[in-house]
Amino acid sequence: MIHNVFNVVGGRTTPAAAGGHRELIDPATGTAHAVATESRAADVDQAVASAREAFGSWRHATPAARSAVLLRAADVLETHADELADLEVADTGKPRDVTRDEEIPASIDVVRFYAGACRVADGRSTGEYIEGVTSGIRREPVGVCGQITPWNYPFMMAVWKWAPAVAAGNAVVLKPSELTPSSTSRMAELLGDVLPSGVLNVVCGGPDVGSALAAHPHVAMVSVTGSPRTGHAVALAAADRFARVHLELGGNAPVVICDDADLDSTVEQVAFAAFYNAGQDCTAASRVIAHEAVHDEVVQRLAEAARRTTIGPLISAAQRTRVVALLAGSPPHAKVVAGGAAPDRDGFFLEPTVVTGLRQDDELVQSEIFGPVITVQSYRGDDEALALANGVEQGLTASVWTASHARAMRFLRDLDFGAVSVNAHAPMGSELPHGGFGSSGYGKDLGVYGLDDYTRIKHVAHAW
Ligand code: NAD
Repeated sequence: MIHNVFNVVGGRTTPAAAGGHRELIDPATGTAHAVATESRAADVDQAVASAREAFGSWRHATPAARSAVLLRAADVLETHADELADLEVADTGKPRDVTRDEEIPASIDVVRFYAGACRVADGRSTGEYIEGVTSGIRREPVGVCGQITPWNYPFMMAVWKWAPAVAAGNAVVLKPSELTPSSTSRMAELLGDVLPSGVLNVVCGGPDVGSALAAHPHVAMVSVTGSPRTGHAVALAAADRFARVHLELGGNAPVVICDDADLDSTVEQVAFAAFYNAGQDCTAASRVIAHEAVHDEVVQRLAEAARRTTIGPLISAAQRTRVVALLAGSPPHAKVVAGGAAPDRDGFFLEPTVVTGLRQDDELVQSEIFGPVITVQSYRGDDEALALANGVEQGLTASVWTASHARAMRFLRDLDFGAVSVNAHAPMGSELPHGGFGSSGYGKDLGVYGLDDYTRIKHVAHAW
């Protein structure tokens, strides 16, 4: 049955004023399953006005009051987890068990984490840094936050945005991806009677709605999870009025497999981290860099893992076409050793794929593939491994697989990425900051760092 997806403004669902709409396609079947309202600038104005009004009082709510509201919000989301999972699966084609039992509970835990974290804000000491003047630091909310999310983990990305912002005392206008707004809209609707009216607003629509939000004069901070191109456009729009910007952009994670790595557990974990969510993950373990002594065995084992892995579809026909074109455009020295084809079935599926023989300046190495594709390169010494790993524009996540403590410590120091792990790929938790360097953007989601990013520092002084 086709369902409708609306904006949520002031806690209530509402169709966009101009009455436009967009069909949502189930990527597992290629057929329409919902119709989402399509906003215009006037709808963004209305949502920002609602958030501004809410901010006036929410900013002064005590940490205990904010915490209590967030804890209630988490309970409500938990009660509706099945329904939220169904919406998410219909929009994304994700496996239902992973969505229901992993992604949604992990997201709800983020809400609970911020319910606690907002009560323990810390700061440097208040004191007399100038004789006769007592100085202190206030940590205040920023104001109305415009937040823009992608389609790969729609529910989780929305929570990663609004929960710290709201916990810090801000009010939010969130624009989900035009491909996957259902769970975000329903979440805001469910929380309509939990959060004070206007604290969390959702506007549905595409890039033009995101642009209107980023350029809005009353939006004090814009946070985006999306592509570097979008991050760049948003940062330019925000610069016009010096609004704060927070960018979680793409990744292109290197996975350095040393000659002393335990290949059994390494290959299993790397294949899992590469093909999870059909590789549509900014932390996907996509770029394997294997020591020449183990390269051939790593390739063979990854190819076997690719052949026995079952994955969901890519998000859209366009996304699959993009990944297939990247593979088709690979140079003659590249070799597809597993997968590479679209299976003959409905939906936007693509086989888990392994490509070898690539050089550092090949597009498959330099660009974020965002599909179920592992590239494998070979290296001789640690210096070369580091040069290959760091030799891309993105800087989100990296891992190194080794039995050597000294090598592990050197790679932890010298890999130029916002998260680096040894013998694990991209472990994540509500407490742990997530965010990158370079073209992966700046600012952190999650952890107390995520909360800090939604606050501003004020020096207050009182002369005696
Ligand atoms: P996208 O940049 O095309 O879209 C992301 C969001 O931005 C969508 O809501 C879209 O409507 C909006 N948007 C697009 N153009 C805009 C503009 N000019 N102004 C304002 N808003 C605009 O990205 P996507 O295809 O939805 O998602 C994939 C990208 O997101 C990948 O690059 C991926 O790595 C990245 N991503 C990053 C993280 C992270 O935490 N670093 C997490 C998930 C996804």
